[in-house]
Amino acid sequence: MDAVNLLGFDLEGLAAYCEQLGEKRFRATQLFRWIHQKGASDFAQMSDLAKSLRDKLAGRAHITALPVISEHLSADGTVKWLFDVGQGNAVEAVFIPEDDRGTLCVSSQAGCAVGCRFCSTGHQGFSRNLETSEIVAQLWYAEHSLRKRLNTQERVISNVVMMGMGEPLQNYGALVPALRVMLDDHGYGLSRRRVTVSTSGVVPMIDRLREDCPVALAVSLHAPTDALRDQLVPLNKKYPIAELLDACNRYLDKAPRDFITFEYCMLDGVNDTPEQAQELVKLLRGHVSCKINLIPFNPFPASGLKRSPRERVMAFAEVLIKAGIVTTVRKTRGDDIDAACGQLAGEVQDRTRAHVRMVRAPVVVKNGAGKSS
Ligand code: SF4
Repeated sequence: MDAVNLLGFDLEGLAAYCEQLGEKRFRATQLFRWIHQKGASDFAQMSDLAKSLRDKLAGRAHITALPVISEHLSADGTVKWLFDVGQGNAVEAVFIPEDDRGTLCVSSQAGCAVGCRFCSTGHQGFSRNLETSEIVAQLWYAEHSLRKRLNTQERVISNVVMMGMGEPLQNYGALVPALRVMLDDHGYGLSRRRVTVSTSGVVPMIDRLREDCPVALAVSLHAPTDALRDQLVPLNKKYPIAELLDACNRYLDKAPRDFITFEYCMLDGVNDTPEQAQELVKLLRGHVSCKINLIPFNPFPASGLKRSPRERVMAFAEVLIKAGIVTTVRKTRGDDIDAACGQLAGEVQDRTRAHVRMVRAPVVVKNGAGKSS
């Protein structure tokens, strides 16, 4: 039997695993703390575990990070890692330090099958879901390597956003145990308000997350109408805006915050006019308690799209703010290392031919003008 990577277990899973080895639950808690709080990977280090357990584990289990292909440090302190997940696939994680928090943006899939037009991951297509151990390994490695670099025993990462490569709600089975590791007081002890799942709008899974593990929710909206969103976020054809907003309202019953964050990537001449801002107000005000996060587009050649000029972004924001919708304009971080969160690009052995499909389809705005080809 293959040895098990213990990074793949939440505390319940580890307790069940220890039970199979004839060990009591408190042993699982000790082990879990060694792994996640102290960053230990060698059972011999775990001094308060019985020698007999350490010996049992040594033959059957391991704690193994993902191989690091590269690490880039930006002038503003942002760190980006590219992790090897095998068979020519690689995923990215990004750490963004700010005065009052340290946020890690984590990937959930090698590639993504949703195929959003403005997203370089979407253009690379989809290879496979990550396992729980591969999702947790990004946090485990980032947290403990940053502690070493900063020479501290204190927690460095205070927030996690599932906003790297992939649609997390299309890898639900692996996602939920990974979230539980993040939240567990014996693991990373992050509050539910500080762990965010970002989704393009997989409505049935939003409902399941609400029951299983309600953390903060961010939704990639990017358009005020179905006609435009169908083109920017193809999943909209399956779960149109009205259904998505209903799911957001249901989620709010159990959400740790009293609002949903809507992400809106500002695309020059596509979704950034004052009229479209008004349409967005009409869509959201009084319907869903929300914040809007306007994101500067991170251009890449295959998209055929351009970043909205700063003045247009600010004018768009003003319409929303005047209408009483809390709106932020995301700062670009790590521009020098290409680390825009939510628009990450690893390496994907595409099994979906997305790169061919997407280049052919133009984005058509209301007046019928094609914006890209
Ligand atoms: S924005 Fe998110 S859901 Fe859309 S293609 Fe990119 S990774 Fe997938």
